[in-house]
Amino acid sequence: MTSASDIGLYVHIPFCQHRCHFCAFYLEIAHSDRIARFSSALTHEIRLHGQHNPLNGRRLQSIYFGGGTPTALPPDQLVSLLKVIQTTWATGPTVEITVEAHPSSVTREGLRALAQAGFTRISFGAESMREQDFIPIGRHGHVQDTAAAVQAAREAGFLNINLDLMYGLPGQSLQDWQRTLEMLLPLDPSHVSCYALTIEDGTQLAQDIAQCRVPPVDDGLQLDMDAVTEQLLTQTGFVRYEISNYAKPAWRCRHNLLYWTGGEYLGLGPSAQSYVNGTRFGNMANLDQYVAALNENRLPITDSTRLSRGERDRDALVFGLRLLHGVPLQTIAGAERDSEIEHLITSGFLSTDHERLRLTPLGRRYADSVAERLF
Ligand code: SF4
Repeated sequence: MTSASDIGLYVHIPFCQHRCHFCAFYLEIAHSDRIARFSSALTHEIRLHGQHNPLNGRRLQSIYFGGGTPTALPPDQLVSLLKVIQTTWATGPTVEITVEAHPSSVTREGLRALAQAGFTRISFGAESMREQDFIPIGRHGHVQDTAAAVQAAREAGFLNINLDLMYGLPGQSLQDWQRTLEMLLPLDPSHVSCYALTIEDGTQLAQDIAQCRVPPVDDGLQLDMDAVTEQLLTQTGFVRYEISNYAKPAWRCRHNLLYWTGGEYLGLGPSAQSYVNGTRFGNMANLDQYVAALNENRLPITDSTRLSRGERDRDALVFGLRLLHGVPLQTIAGAERDSEIEHLITSGFLSTDHERLRLTPLGRRYADSVAERLF
């Protein structure tokens, strides 16, 4: 569980070498002049937040460089940004510092520089070990890059290595997915995130499916893949602790746990979201506007909402249900909700041991809709 003093920092690096066809994140294609503008604006954003002191002296328990592809930035720039953060805020003694990376965008020297600078965790977007899977999702790189990157990261000193995978890809069979897992497990990651492919509006993939160039997502197959994932990973010593996340003992992602347990976090960079001192706020999702605001010495915040008690309860339920141990029944039971809970249990979406309420495997597939039904 998180304590009131836990706070995390998220840094959104909005650059990639290419845009994958399923991706709806705010980002642009990496160009050195844009990266330089962004890095200088981000440094200014850190300093401005440092002056405004929203953390009230709390120490950072986690720092997470996500994106985008953080390793689209040269390693020395990532190291400089981390140093600015560390000189602005104190960090806890066991701070987790993650950098997301594309397996094709790292070098041995770069990984060594990141590990030596204090990054403790690296998360590779591997997606699949079957190269044909990359084609319909517009993924660049080669499957052999993943094994090489994991080995290089380990040699550089990273003990905590995550692999992000995606299943239910167009044309991927159950056996193909199982083979991807079997090829990746010998790499001995400490953490594996397995996401079912979802189709976001406005993406190239949504358009390709609408125009029948790519087959649609098969929900039933994704459920079977989810079951195979749990079976294979738990057999090899992983614990499933969240809908999409598996960890070896002691390697659960502290930063993501903050999100799922109502913890607070400050987000930096274009489009980054924050939840600090009971208020949720978001940054402009536009690099030019973000830079312009900071050039005027303004924080690039577009909207800000102080959450009511009801909204906090709702978030606690939506995120808490994502965790495999679920939520305490007493926090949500009430005359008006009991019949809905009963209905969701008999329909196979929820289960209970009379103390905690959990999603079933079917419920996990529709986690957000199930939580919405309880409010
Ligand atoms: S590498 Fe990741 S962030 Fe970049 S486009 Fe692909 S999915 Fe999106």
